[in-house]
Amino acid sequence: MEKGRFAPSPSGRMHLGNLMCSLLAWLSARASGGQVVLRIEDLDAARCPRTYADLLEQDLAWLGLVWDEGGSAGGPDGPYYQSERFEIYKQYYDKLNALGLVYPCFCSRSQLHAASAPHRADGQVVYPGTCRGLSPEEVARRALKKAPAWRVQVPDRVIGFTDGHLGHYEENLAADCGDFYLRRGDGVYAYQLAVVVDDALMGVTQVVRGADLLSSTPRQLWLYETLGLPAPRFYHLPLLLAPDGRRLSKRDGDVSLEQLAARYTPEQIVGRLAYACGLQTEPAPRTPAQLLPDFDWAKVPRQDICLPEGLF
Ligand code: GLU
Repeated sequence: MEKGRFAPSPSGRMHLGNLMCSLLAWLSARASGGQVVLRIEDLDAARCPRTYADLLEQDLAWLGLVWDEGGSAGGPDGPYYQSERFEIYKQYYDKLNALGLVYPCFCSRSQLHAASAPHRADGQVVYPGTCRGLSPEEVARRALKKAPAWRVQVPDRVIGFTDGHLGHYEENLAADCGDFYLRRGDGVYAYQLAVVVDDALMGVTQVVRGADLLSSTPRQLWLYETLGLPAPRFYHLPLLLAPDGRRLSKRDGDVSLEQLAARYTPEQIVGRLAYACGLQTEPAPRTPAQLLPDFDWAKVPRQDICLPEGLF
């Protein structure tokens, strides 16, 4: 049985970009007769209060994007809030640690950005391994002043995969990515670890998400392999841009669901979005279920999608 997922980070009200991702995740899973899991990615609990997660559930349900397990309703593989899963992440973190792959890092953000290290595909610095060889004495000395973050040491290996929508993508983990964070100094586990553990333990077989996460995928595939967990298939979506080519963000109040819901019915929102994504030739009102019979990944553009002027 195919299983897709919604994995929102509720740090604000949903916007059109989140909505496009949820719509395509839902259509892709349902078109293959599959189910959908709702997992709330609130690792940073202070930035993601429960009120936003609750609003998100209301918004998804209002739009007709119904899920089968997860969120506040729970289910067999819960809890479905990442903020409640730290004991689970610890078990997998400990496995990597037992393999000798985890080390403490004392570098500050400003030190990292000052370094003349190459940059990754996502704009972050490729970590130059500054703290990799610290002696236990040095670690103990520095830990008196600052709680370290924890990184995982990656191999000098190319990890490639075939994205279900964008085709082949690969990275050399050491050269293009570098050792990455598993846990912050305050004990919060990193997205890269949490998402892998959760998708595997929740039985997710297909991940649909924005192309901004394409460059995270080789890292995540290596974690699946190293932890002995089954990896899902990936479908990365083009970004949705404002009519003037700007990136949509939560700051653009005009595209938040709060604003949209005041002007349109759920069918109008879904139908217009489906039109922008190439799933129908007219911006006619539709429910997600009405889009299912004609759903085909081949219709979705691979380049960034600029919202037509006046569509919303
Ligand atoms: N929580 C992430 C977001 O809202 C998505 C992570 C993922 O799909 O892997 O952008």
